[in-house]
Amino acid sequence: MKIAVLPGDGIGPEITEQAVRVLRALSREGLRIEMETAPVGGAAVDATGDPLPESTLKVAQAADAILFGSVGGPKYDSLPRAQRPEQGLLRLRKHFDLYANLRPAIVYPELAHASTLKTEVVAGLDLLILRELTGDIYFGQPRGVRTTESGEREGFDTMRYTEREIRRIAHTAFRAARKRSLRVCSVDKANVLETTQFWRDVVTEVHREYEDVALSHMYVDNAAMQLIRNPKQFDVIVTGNMFGDILSDEASMLTGSIGMLPSASLNESSYGLYEPIHGSAPDIAGKDIANPLATILSAAMLLRYSLDQEEAATRIEQAVRKVLAQGFRTADIAEAGKRTVGTTEMGEAVIAAL
Ligand code: NAD
Repeated sequence: MKIAVLPGDGIGPEITEQAVRVLRALSREGLRIEMETAPVGGAAVDATGDPLPESTLKVAQAADAILFGSVGGPKYDSLPRAQRPEQGLLRLRKHFDLYANLRPAIVYPELAHASTLKTEVVAGLDLLILRELTGDIYFGQPRGVRTTESGEREGFDTMRYTEREIRRIAHTAFRAARKRSLRVCSVDKANVLETTQFWRDVVTEVHREYEDVALSHMYVDNAAMQLIRNPKQFDVIVTGNMFGDILSDEASMLTGSIGMLPSASLNESSYGLYEPIHGSAPDIAGKDIANPLATILSAAMLLRYSLDQEEAATRIEQAVRKVLAQGFRTADIAEAGKRTVGTTEMGEAVIAAL
């Protein structure tokens, strides 16, 4: 099994290095993985003038999954759009048709106080938001600004979902639920929007193939409220691109720490790009203080969803829980009475806990 490692910019190289060390530790114990590193984003612009050079795309194509750090930084902000570091990531999503964005929001008991919500509301939360990433009103045509017959200007976008697009994300949701607590909540606005009534109908049809999984439906306005009121009622939430954009950011704040949250973007053949949800954090790059746990947890998701190595994935997640229980904290989650460590030392603690 091959993993393409694309560290990127800012803290990207520091945090991916720790995830790679964790994977190497598992490989020493018999997990059969090979890793190849290639530049992406600003690092690739510096080396070749292109944020996604052909050579990097080849490394990614030859692999079963991508472990991605983060891209971007002030140095590249004035470049033409095609050369911006983020284009490297967007082109990878497009090239591999990464339509399913998985964002777990897990609140570790030791970090529950870091949330802006009451500890008892979030402690023990373990939620997976599954956002469709390549369709919906974000990509629907026609769109634009036009002048109406009465001479007034109007802006318009088009919400669209094909049956195929809904089916594949529904399958992903039910399969993900089978690796979790067997519950899916599909979020829509079926009371108002035709497209999302269709979404509800198709999700219900696909559900017939997954009778072991419980399916519920919820309107998006209610879901936004329920996520704050009682987030622990959810296991897997599946929703379209726009609702998912908003709800996944809302859910990430339940946990209170950006340095802890991994993500996956998958295509139909379980090829995936795995990355922390945070950016390249130029303000702390090169100081060995960034939290590597979101990237280490992204490596765990990679093992679970692209390489089907559930046991190895769980081992990494348990090791992360253990280091938190042992009191290791990076600066972003620092706490009086606990041991504040740097990026490298946190990586070492996870390996020791493995
Ligand atoms: P950011 O996520 O990089 O940083 C926001 C804040 O969180 C900063 O104070 C940072 O120090 C802190 N932070 C982030 N990750 C951390 C970690 N692992 N440990 C400790 N602290 C952490 O967001 P930003 O500052 O808005 O963006 C910086 C750059 O990253 C920009 O160029 C942006 O375009 C890019 N970006 C890239 C991605 C990606 O690669 N997927 C995502 C978002 C932003």
